[in-house]
Amino acid sequence: MTTSASVLSLSDGRSAVFAGVDVCREAGLVLPAGVGRPVFEDDVWDFTHVIGLPVQMARGMRRFDFTAIADARWRLVAKELLLAVLAPRHPAVAPLPRAYRTALHLASCAGRLGELVRFLDWLGERGITGLEQVDTQACEAYMAHRRYVLDENGAVVGEQSPGTRRSAAQIVVDLVNYRALFTADRVAVDLRPWGGACASAVAEMPCGRGQNKTPPVEDRVLQPMLAAALYLVSALGPHTVKLAGEVRAADLTSSRKTEGLRHGGPAPIADFTELLAQYARTRAPLPMLAEHHVADRLAEGWSPDDPLLPVATGLLARQAGFGQLWSRWLPSLRRPLEDAVSSLGVEKAFGRDAAETTSADGASALPWTLPLHRLQAVALVGIVRTAAIIVLSAVSGMRASELMELRVGCRQAPEEPIPGLMRFRIASKVVKGQPLGGTDDEWVVVEPVYRAVGLVESLHEDPSDGALLFGRFAFTVRYRWFRNWVNSPAGQRLGLAAIPEGPVNLRMLRRSLALELAYRPGGVLASKIHLKHIAVATTEGYASRPGGAQAELLAEINKYESDRNLDLVLAEFRNYQQGILPAGPGARSLTEFFAGIDEKLEPAAAPAPRTQRSDRDVLNLLTKRAKTLHIGPANFCWFTDPSRALCLKLAGTPTADRPLIGMCDSARCPQATHHPCHRPVWAEHAERTKTFLGDLGKTRRTEHARLQNDYDRALRVVAEIDAATTDQPDEDSA
Ligand code: SF4
Repeated sequence: MTTSASVLSLSDGRSAVFAGVDVCREAGLVLPAGVGRPVFEDDVWDFTHVIGLPVQMARGMRRFDFTAIADARWRLVAKELLLAVLAPRHPAVAPLPRAYRTALHLASCAGRLGELVRFLDWLGERGITGLEQVDTQACEAYMAHRRYVLDENGAVVGEQSPGTRRSAAQIVVDLVNYRALFTADRVAVDLRPWGGACASAVAEMPCGRGQNKTPPVEDRVLQPMLAAALYLVSALGPHTVKLAGEVRAADLTSSRKTEGLRHGGPAPIADFTELLAQYARTRAPLPMLAEHHVADRLAEGWSPDDPLLPVATGLLARQAGFGQLWSRWLPSLRRPLEDAVSSLGVEKAFGRDAAETTSADGASALPWTLPLHRLQAVALVGIVRTAAIIVLSAVSGMRASELMELRVGCRQAPEEPIPGLMRFRIASKVVKGQPLGGTDDEWVVVEPVYRAVGLVESLHEDPSDGALLFGRFAFTVRYRWFRNWVNSPAGQRLGLAAIPEGPVNLRMLRRSLALELAYRPGGVLASKIHLKHIAVATTEGYASRPGGAQAELLAEINKYESDRNLDLVLAEFRNYQQGILPAGPGARSLTEFFAGIDEKLEPAAAPAPRTQRSDRDVLNLLTKRAKTLHIGPANFCWFTDPSRALCLKLAGTPTADRPLIGMCDSARCPQATHHPCHRPVWAEHAERTKTFLGDLGKTRRTEHARLQNDYDRALRVVAEIDAATTDQPDEDSA
């Protein structure tokens, strides 16, 4: 940053470094041809049309509105900071020692701008008119302001999330780090808030190395929710496609926006007579008015006994070719309308004569829906779309950003790699952690997911290839509507189990799937691949490893193993003290070790007076040795030195950190010992080998020699164990 560039001058309100800059070009953002390009001096930078922005990014976040900052100097500071983090390679930004080296995503920049506006407003409220007046106390005060949630009396009632706290700290740190870049106002050169700590440290962000904190969906919620979603997609889905078609057709011919409708004029008696005759021919009831419109009529003074009260006369008028049914027409039309009501009745316009379906509990066959008003029909189609989202998310594990990137035609042709085994794939984009525009990817899914995508395509209003399948959606609201419907009389009529109250969101569904996958053989790797995690560590976090149920089980097993080993070593030590010695090639080493321990426990040999001779003392001395103990079927393995392990030598892996107990040759390995508990194994082996030897024919000399060696060895081991058990310890044996 040169001195000339950093001159504080606001004579023309222009930036010393970014004046006249094309923001998108500088930030490397691509806009379609013909779209307005934001220039640095604009007070609103509109990135709505930037190519590659994720569908998930809200429209509001795509417009950077600097007019929220009233002070022109601070507005310039905000623009300079935002462009600096968007364009870290700009010649004025790159030399800044603490500037970001990688451009921030537009979504992050939108967050920065929001926090900066908040900070500057806060400064203004405290009477601070220049950034140079910001001191460490002000920084601390702002952190406290953003950290705590206060009630109306100013009492602390809670704390904001670490993310909010980091955001608050980060904006102050940014103003310090980019200080040299600002033309109109700067923080003091010696401002070093929080002793120069980074924003994450100031915010006390959790390290993130533990397990994933998103909880899975509770089973009591997941089970009925998924069952309802699958039922809606499979049993009601095809019917809702037809229903959606009926709504669209009705909207085309009889909505208020239908073109060619006539307005005013005398009462169209002939048109209505013809329309009602058509109803009579098809024996179709007249369309019913929605309840809230009936209430409006009653409020306007209609009689509750009026037979035309529930009739959707406006809809009838549009079906007859008129914009509405004027009240002045009613005296002339009342009689034919009342006659039609009495002979045909009144019914909701959609879902009449619904086809039968089997209820969710399989107990009965019943119409898939009762008649619906238009809004109810539209809502039901929306509920089915939500059911498809639930199936997709819960069973495929796709993130919200990936679901929103799905497009019509995303289903790839099914494959049959093995006869009878189908593979279904859907294509979308991975957005998280990817460059702008995301990365195309595919998800292998089960058939219900594949069919759910097909259903949503059929429900799409414009199912042309490439159209967004869902677009941006708010799952929380949609799920609330879905659950309300399932728990309503409409859902209960179909035999759906009620969904209990409980939090559900797309992250929780993904976490639930991750756990289900990971707790199967090879599941962590399968989860990593399927959930498209960059690192296995992330999957381990999702799968509660480390720190989850499996890890706890493993830790418990390890603890039991250590306790068992310690008990065994203690028992052998007590045996040694009673003259029952170990046998085998490693016996001498173990006996020497026990002798050393025994010596330490002798008051006369102890280096200092000891007052306690409990098992605890002994265990403390034996613990290290116990850690080397591995249990073989016919011996103990004291794995103190890998280079002496016979099994590792035979396997050609002399540096391994565990013995290969399956290849153990305990009669020859210097780390093996035999104890009285192993005697039955060796004795039985000797007995069996003897039987085999007796059965061998005289011609099988090689086999005979091998078995004889085996037999001799088994007898030798048994004899050694017996000898060690009966001999008293003396200097030689120790
Ligand atoms: S050969 Fe047996 S005793 Fe020796 S190190 Fe291997 S397992 Fe342990």
